[in-house]
Amino acid sequence: MAFLDKSVRTILLGEIAAGMWLTLKYMFMPKVTINYPYEKGPLSPRFRGEHALRRYPNGEERCIACKLCEAICPAQAITIEAEPRADGSRRTTRYDIDMTKCIYCGFCEEACPVDAIVEGPNFEFATETHDELLYNKDKLLANGDRWEPRIAANLADVAPYR
Ligand code: SF4
Ligand code: SF4
Repeated sequence: MAFLDKSVRTILLGEIAAGMWLTLKYMFMPKVTINYPYEKGPLSPRFRGEHALRRYPNGEERCIACKLCEAICPAQAITIEAEPRADGSRRTTRYDIDMTKCIYCGFCEEACPVDAIVEGPNFEFATETHDELLYNKDKLLANGDRWEPRIAANLADVAPYR
């Protein structure tokens, strides 16, 4: 009986008809794919992307060079050097992140007492060379300036749960 059933399906091209029916059905259903990079999917406010160093609204750096982020980083990707300014405040003279070591755990962001170092929403920072992923303070501050509105909105979203 099974042989007969299989033979009839083969002769009548049953598998092809079933496949064509499936194709036709999905042609009229909502698309589940997007046309990346022209279209982008939603991102959680907790998404951990490219790092950024933030400033206060007056332009002053948030980072107070406490080095908690450097100490907690499990990949030892962060290198900080600091010295006091003339006004007695403490700021970094060097803040490097080796993005090729980073495992995007978010510990640096969690440890920071002033929300200075954050992982922003940018995930499009692939490079052609290793050196381009060795971020220094200028690069991190520039990231902060670029993404501040999104970063601030994301931090406000997750604030009740921290
Ligand atoms: S996300 Fe994790 S691994 Fe990357 S720099 Fe921060 S603490 Fe280090
Ligand atoms: S980024 Fe935050 S945790 Fe790291 S040194 Fe600066 S203030 Fe401290």
